[in-house]
Amino acid sequence: MSKFPEFKIDLDNFISELTTRLEHNNKRVEKLLKTPKKSYANFVKPLLMMEEYLDQFFTPLSHINAVNNSDKTQEVYSESIPIITEYSTKLSQNLDIYNAYKEIYKNEKESLNYEQNRVLELNIDHFELSGAHLDDKTKARLQEINIKTSELSNNFSQNLLDATNEYQYIIDDEKDVDGIPESDKENAKIEEDGVVKYKFTLQLPSYISYMTYGKNSIIREELYRAYVTRSPQNAAIIDELLALKDEMSKLLGFDNYAQYSIASKMAKNEKSVVDFLDKLAKNSKEQAQAELKELQAIAPAKLQSFDTAFYSEILKKKSYDIDEEEYRPYFEQQSVINGMFTFLDKLFGFKFKNVDEKLWNDKASSYDLYVDEKLTARLYFDLEARENKRGGAWMHNWQSHCNDEKGNEQLASAFIVCNFPSSSDTTPSLLRHDDIVTLFHEMGHTIHHLLSSVNENDVSGVNGVEWDAVEFPSQFLENFAYEPKVLKLFAKHYKTGEVLPDDMIEKLVKSKNFQSAMGMLRQLEFSTFDFKLHSNIYKGDEVQALLDSIREETSLIKAPEYNKFQNGFSHIFAGGYAAGYYSYKWAEVLSADAFYSVVDEGIFGSKTAKKYLDIVLKGGGSKSMEILFHELMNREPDTDKLLRLNGIK
Ligand SMILES: [Zn+2]
Repeated sequence: MSKFPEFKIDLDNFISELTTRLEHNNKRVEKLLKTPKKSYANFVKPLLMMEEYLDQFFTPLSHINAVNNSDKTQEVYSESIPIITEYSTKLSQNLDIYNAYKEIYKNEKESLNYEQNRVLELNIDHFELSGAHLDDKTKARLQEINIKTSELSNNFSQNLLDATNEYQYIIDDEKDVDGIPESDKENAKIEEDGVVKYKFTLQLPSYISYMTYGKNSIIREELYRAYVTRSPQNAAIIDELLALKDEMSKLLGFDNYAQYSIASKMAKNEKSVVDFLDKLAKNSKEQAQAELKELQAIAPAKLQSFDTAFYSEILKKKSYDIDEEEYRPYFEQQSVINGMFTFLDKLFGFKFKNVDEKLWNDKASSYDLYVDEKLTARLYFDLEARENKRGGAWMHNWQSHCNDEKGNEQLASAFIVCNFPSSSDTTPSLLRHDDIVTLFHEMGHTIHHLLSSVNENDVSGVNGVEWDAVEFPSQFLENFAYEPKVLKLFAKHYKTGEVLPDDMIEKLVKSKNFQSAMGMLRQLEFSTFDFKLHSNIYKGDEVQALLDSIREETSLIKAPEYNKFQNGFSHIFAGGYAAGYYSYKWAEVLSADAFYSVVDEGIFGSKTAKKYLDIVLKGGGSKSMEILFHELMNREPDTDKLLRLNGIK
C-alpha cells in the first residue's frame, strides 16, 4: 500500500463528511477527558493525531480552492470555515484539556522525551497566552479587548483603503508622462471629452510607476504628499490600539505588549531585539551614506524624499542594466527543477523520483524524496500560472512526519505552488531569476517540513517553529540561487545548452545589492519603530516624537513634517506584525550566517550543510530555534553575516 494518500476530494459530500468528523471528534474529546489516570500516551497522543487527521482531510479543500478555484470550491470552502472555526475555538478554550496537559506535564516531565515535553509546553503556553486560565472577570475583559482591537484594526485598514481609493491625479500634458513604461502608461490612460489624459492613483503599481519614472518633480511631490498623509483619522485608532494592547498584556502578566509578543518567539527578551536592530543600523549607516552620495551626484538639486525612487532608477540602469529577456532562455523550468534536485542531492544527499499519479491538474506533478534509498516524503508541484489559480507562491504542508497512536511511522508531504509562465507543447516555460529565488525559497520551507524525523506531529517539520525563525530555512536556501556554482548546475540555454556566462552571473549578483544599505536602514526604521512603540505607553504626539527620534539614526534624507507614515503602517496596526516586524531581519541573520558557513566550506561536501540537515531540518519544531541554531554553529547568530550578504562592509 502506498505510504501517501491519494489526492482526491468529493466537493458534493465535503460538508456532510466534515460535520460527521467534527461530531465524532467532539465525542472523542469528551471520552478522552473521562480517561482515568490521563497520560501522554492515552490522552495527548490520540488528541494530537485526531487534529492531524482533521488537517489532512481539510488541506485538499483549501488547496483546491486556491489552485482550481471555482464557484463550487468557493461555496464549499466558505461554508466550511465557520464550522471549523467554531470547532477549533471551542477546543482552544477547553479548560479541561488545559488542566489535563498541566497535570500530565507535572507527572511525566521526567519520563517523557524532549519532543513530548515541547508539545506540552507549547500547548500550555498557548492556553495561557490567550488567558484561558484566568478568572472569569479577566477573561471577559480580554474578550472585550479582542473584539475591540479587531474592530479597530479593521477600521484602520478600511480608512487606509478609502483614502487610497479616493485620490487621483490627472495629467493632461503628454510630456509629464514621458519616460513612463508603455504598459504603465496604457493603464493610466483615460479619455475626457475626446482628449487623452493620464490618471495616477495611490494604488501601489500606479503610485510606484510615477515615483520611479515620472520626470516632473512637482507631480512627484504632490503624489508623495497625498500618499504619506493618507487616513489622518488613523492616528486616534493607533492611540486606542496601543492602550488596549498594553492593557491586554498587563492582564496576561507582562510588562508591555513587546514582551507579550516575544513570549512565543525565538528572541529572548526586549533588549536582545533592540540591540540587534541597533547594531545592524550602526553598521549599515556608513555605506548607506555612501550610496546616498552616489545618488546625490546624479541629481541636479538636493535630494528630497520624493526624488529617491526616480534617481535610483536612473542610477540602477546606468550601473547594472539587466535585461530579463536575455536571462530567461537560460532558466527553462524543468532544467531549473532538475538542477535544484541535483544541487540538493550534492549538498544534503537526498534524491527525488518522479511519481506517476493522477493529480488535480495535468501540469501538477509529484516526487518522492529518498534519503539513503529510504522513501521519506512526498512533494507536489503546481508551478505554472493559469486561470482560476490564486497568484503568488507558497508552501502548504499536508501530512507531518510522526508516529501514530499505534506506533506506525507516518511520512510527510507538502505542496509547492507558484505562478511561473506556462509551458505548451511548442513553447517552454522560461523563468525570470526572481522566479528561481521564489522556487528555492519555497523549497527551503518544504524540505524543512519533509525531512523531519520528529515523532510528534505537533512539533514536526514547520509545526511549532517560532514565528521569527520560520523563514530561516527558506531564506537559507534562497541565497543559493545567486551562487555561481549552483547556477551552473541548471542555468543552461534551452536551445544551445550553453551555461550562463560568468559576466552575466556577476551582473546578477551585483544588481541584487544595489542600494542595499539604504534598504536595510529603511527596514530597520520600521522594525525599531514598531518594537519600541509596543515596549512602552505612547499616545498622541509621543508617537511622532518616537518616530522622529528613530529617524535621526535611520533616515538619511529628512522626511518632511507632513509625512505621517505611521497612519498607513498596516502591517503592525492591522496585520498581526505588532512588535514582530523585526522578525524579517531576525530570520535573515540566521539564514545568512548558516549560508556563509556552507559557502566558506566550498558548498558541496560542506560539514555545516550536513549538520544543517541533521539538526535544523530533521529537528523541525521539536526544540526552540535558539537551541537548534546553537547546536548547528556552536555560537550565537552573527549579524555581520547579514551585512555580508547585503554587500555591506
Ligand atoms: Zn517564506
